[in-house]
Amino acid sequence: MNSPKPAIIRDVAENIGAITSDIAAAAGKAARAVDDITLIAVAKRQPLDRIERALAAGHRIFGENRLQEAQGKWPALKETYPDIELHMIGALQTNKAADAMALFDVIHTLDREKLARKIADEAIKIGHCPDLFIQVNTGAETQKGGIALDVLTDFVAFCWEELNLPVIGLMCLPPIDEEPALHFALLQKLAKRHGFAKISMGMSGDFEKAIQFGATHIRVGTAVFGVRES
Ligand SMILES: *Cc1c(COP(=O)(O)O)cnc(C)c1O
Repeated sequence: MNSPKPAIIRDVAENIGAITSDIAAAAGKAARAVDDITLIAVAKRQPLDRIERALAAGHRIFGENRLQEAQGKWPALKETYPDIELHMIGALQTNKAADAMALFDVIHTLDREKLARKIADEAIKIGHCPDLFIQVNTGAETQKGGIALDVLTDFVAFCWEELNLPVIGLMCLPPIDEEPALHFALLQKLAKRHGFAKISMGMSGDFEKAIQFGATHIRVGTAVFGVRES
């Protein structure tokens, strides 16, 4: 029941099938409903034909970490598949917020006041707002995005009460050299404490563990599509 590791020889559709079974098994083990877990197929730096294979297999939920790259491929694909759901999972510059809101259905990387204000202003202008996750810097890494743990509570209150933003959950990206379970457990605790139902965590190598700790949105790239182009 291991998920496929970097899978260049297997077909994308087969990979999705295998991951779907792994999700079901992990959910079963954690006594959770499989419908509560969303597989975001992370398509960054993947060739178009692999993305098209995922679409042909019926998958519609995708993630990207760079706005510009996403703008280059998804508008055309959305014309053919209007029910595509796009998730922004990479760092977002404040001056690119409006462009990101025009393309993405969900943004996972809200992590500072300036960006929150910008998103709120734009939401009023365009009359809608993507669902938002607050990214939490659980490893206190200086080079990484995410709000610091000690100001999370204030930031949640600011987003909800002052700006009325549709923040639905928390997201984290654990340090690569640490046991992810510690970070998953921490994020689960923080989500519970702040009343969030959604948790975005877990990637190709650790999504089953993330499910064990309550992940509702797993972000899986290489296990779906194979190794990325550099
Ligand atoms: C690339 C990326 C992923 C997916 O990583 P894989 O190891 O390929 O599954 C998940 N989350 C974020 C934020 C990413 O940038």
